[in-house]
Order: sequence, then C-alpha cells, then structure tokens
Amino acid sequence: MRYLKHFCVLMMAVITLPYTAQAQGLLRDADIEYALDQVAKPVLQAAGLSPSRVRILVVDDMKMNAFVIDSKQIFVTAGLVLKTETPEMLQSVIAHEAAHIANGHISRRLQNMRATQTAAGFGLVFAAAAGLASGNADVTTGLALGLNASAKRVFLAHSRSEEASADQAAYKYMKRAQLNPLGMQQTLSLFEGQLNLTTQRQDPYIQSHPLSRDRLRAVETLIASDSMAYGQNPSLYWHARALGKLSAFIRGPDWTLQRADKSVTKDIAHMRKAVALSRQGKLDQALAEMDKAQALRPKDPFLMDLRAELLMRARQFKASAQTYAKAAALAPNAPLILAGQGRALLASGDVRAAQTVLETARSRDFRNIRLHQDLAVAYGKLGNNGMASVVTAERYALQGKLNDAKLHANRAEALLPRGTPAWQRAQDVLSVASNR
Ligand SMILES: [Zn+2]
Repeated sequence: MRYLKHFCVLMMAVITLPYTAQAQGLLRDADIEYALDQVAKPVLQAAGLSPSRVRILVVDDMKMNAFVIDSKQIFVTAGLVLKTETPEMLQSVIAHEAAHIANGHISRRLQNMRATQTAAGFGLVFAAAAGLASGNADVTTGLALGLNASAKRVFLAHSRSEEASADQAAYKYMKRAQLNPLGMQQTLSLFEGQLNLTTQRQDPYIQSHPLSRDRLRAVETLIASDSMAYGQNPSLYWHARALGKLSAFIRGPDWTLQRADKSVTKDIAHMRKAVALSRQGKLDQALAEMDKAQALRPKDPFLMDLRAELLMRARQFKASAQTYAKAAALAPNAPLILAGQGRALLASGDVRAAQTVLETARSRDFRNIRLHQDLAVAYGKLGNNGMASVVTAERYALQGKLNDAKLHANRAEALLPRGTPAWQRAQDVLSVASNR
C-alpha cells in the first residue's frame, strides 16, 4: 500500500486534472530508483563522479525535463524516462546532466544557499526548480528564494555555451563508457519538432537546456564521425525494469496487461502484471504474479519490497512488516524499503518499533513525503506532539507549501525544548519559510 496507494491516487489526479493542477513532487520507489542508479552508473563513472553520491530521482510530471539543483541528484521527469526507447537514450540525458555537474554549471545562487542540506531547504529549492522548469511556478517559492521575474527565467536555464560544452562532454562520457552515443541524437530528436512552437507548448526541457538547430547539428556531426562498434548495452535489463514498473504505475492497468508479455525478461513481465492487477483491486492474482517473479529472482530485495506493498494493501500488516524486514536486510542502502517497513509496523500497531525504523529511514533520506506523514502519526500516537509538529512542518516544506510549513514549525518551536536538535529543525523550516 505504501507507495502504490499513493500512486493510484496520483494516477487518478493525472487522468482527471490538467498539468497545471498536478502537484509537483517526486515519484519515490525503491525498485525504480535502484534500476535508474544502475543505468546511470557507467555514465557517472565516465564523468568522474561517484555513482554512490549522485542519485537519480524521478519527478512526477509527464512533460519532458531533466535538471540539476546541486551535485548530489539528477532529476528526470517520468514523462522523459518513459519516452526513452533504449537505455542509451536515457544514459545520454544523464550524461548531459552529469556534464553540468562536472563542469560546475550549477547556479552559484544555489551553491551558496546550501539549502538543499535540510529537508526544508531541499523542499523549497526543489519546489521552485520543478515549478519554474515546468512553467507552473508557484510564485511564493520563487519569492522565498529571492527570485524576481527575470531571475526566475535564469534560475535553472543553462546558457547556450554551457549547453554546447555539456553536449561535448556527454558525448565523451558515452564513448568512454562504451555506450552508443546515437542515443544522444535520438533523445534530442524528441524535441526537434518543438523548436517552432511557442514557449508554453514546448516541453520544459527546452527552457532548462536551450535547444537550437546548431546544437542538434553539432551532435549529429560528432555522431557521424563515430565508427566504433557497440555490443549489447549491459543496462538493458535495468532500463526495462525501471520503465516497466514506472509505466505500470502511470499507464492504465489494461495498457500494461496487454503489453507485459513483451517485456525483455519474464520476471519484469510478472512484476508489471502484479502492479497492474493490484491497481484493479485483484490482490490475490497480483500476489500470484509475484510468486512467479520471485521464483525467477528469489534474492531480489525490490521484488520483496513490492510483495510487502501488496501485502499492506491486502491488510496483512504483520506479514508485510516481516517481508519488508527481509528486503531491508538484503538492500541496506535502500531507505525507501525501511520507510515501508516502518509503515507496516505502524499499521500493525507496533508504534515504538515503527518510530525507530522510520527515524533510521529519515536519517538516510529526508526527501520522502510519505515517510514524514507516517512519522508524524507515530509521534502523535506516542504523545510527542512537538516531534509530530516538526516532522509535519518538514513535510509541508518538502512539498513547497510554505504557509503550512510555517504554521507547524511555530507550533513545534513552542512545544520543544529550546536549543535541542529538533527545535533547530523547526528553526530551519522557519528561516526558509519566513524569507519572504
Ligand atoms: Zn543542459
């Protein structure tokens, strides 16, 4: 139930609401993020960046965009990920963003802010970045960052010279990683038809990474001179898995069920069917598909994570918590799985254990909105209203809802002992939310 329920709710929002009404947020799923990290790994290494220090995060938006706000995370929209037909297409997007990081193209304003170090600061910068890049800017987050109308335009947008050098570097990284750079050309051609459209009708990628015929021609020239032969891309499986799961969450279940059998491997086919069936409320059938997927990959922690999620939906909370625990033991670097475990423990009534696990998950990854919600519930049940308020304030800040964040931070400040780390967290939210 953890993310799946959230996804289903989101799904309905996607179907019924126009883009502008969609909440700008991240789609968090341990399996998808692990898969994308595997796809990114060779490219990040070729860029001289440490794959364990740069996360690939999916933005909940069907328009195409990719952007960086610091050197630790590369954001790609779900819409762009789903449009990549080959791993090379996605790897070339990541290579281009990695070049912006490696070449120091991140706005000095953002580097100086150091705001992304705290949940509140991250939320503010992310909300502004996602909002501004998609053209759905929330004025208040822009104002909070001290951006006026003209600064907003350049907040994320790279210059044409930065684009040219990022393309050249990305080409080098692709070659160094022995990945076919044709993916670059194929990705850019996704946008080619949009060059003559008005800004409002273009995908936001074109605003954050100014695209021109010159840029396209330069990439085409580089690729025309490439005579290397390329073998099968080792990232084929993980690319298919990331897209398979993402599309199963986003597309209609019938769409997925019709196409699942064409997946590159059988385990991916069963996993996709399990997600689609669970979204149709057919939990027994979904779990039967998971049996088949897990028979093929018995030690796969991310398939266990999905099974645990389905068990939550089936209200088998204890079994779910146990399955999450097994998955977490196999994937110690996946705090999203721990967050799921905490959620299952909370649902099964073991509030104290839930609080401990959720705090561990939060200490490893504070960007999880759902986790903050669960943690606030746990603190509320334990009678610790000060902590419940801090965590709620941080959740609103992560969502870019600064008025609500401020309200709860004020409440937390009044309840918590002055000078303690939790009190300081409330101060962090207030300093971010009051800068208007
Ligand atoms: Zn760029």
